[in-house]
Amino acid sequence: MNTIHNTIKTLGGRLTKTRKAIIEVLSENRCFLTKAEIIQKLRDKKIKPDRTTLYRELVYLTKNQIARKNTINGIEYFEIPQDHHHHLVCVSCNSIQSVDMSNHLEKQEKQIAKQNKFNIINHSLEFYGYCHNCQA
Ligand SMILES: [Zn+2]
Ligand SMILES: [Zn+2]
Ligand SMILES: [Zn+2]
Repeated sequence: MNTIHNTIKTLGGRLTKTRKAIIEVLSENRCFLTKAEIIQKLRDKKIKPDRTTLYRELVYLTKNQIARKNTINGIEYFEIPQDHHHHLVCVSCNSIQSVDMSNHLEKQEKQIAKQNKFNIINHSLEFYGYCHNCQA
């Protein structure tokens, strides 16, 4: 969290109460949250930003690569992952699970970067399918 605060200071950004709380909510959760879920969790912390403010904050955090945004089935999700992970997305109930993967893919990333002379800074990977409950 302090690293994030420092990053924002380096960027010349202000650490408002709302901004701090959004970072806190996303950091605590570790994986994807929708805007509605973020609002709910902020309310639990007695912070009630209007939708415009929240939207502006999320754009700021995403643009500065502090948070990650992903649109799945038309829904926007945000996360500040503490550890690198990928996702299992159920196309039936829209649930999302996070998964750790072996180093295999991360090793491949280095190879891909080298082969294509591409400086990769990050990647995201979602597997789509049916969760255990929806297979029945
Ligand atoms: Zn995640
Ligand atoms: Zn499901
Ligand atoms: Zn990965």
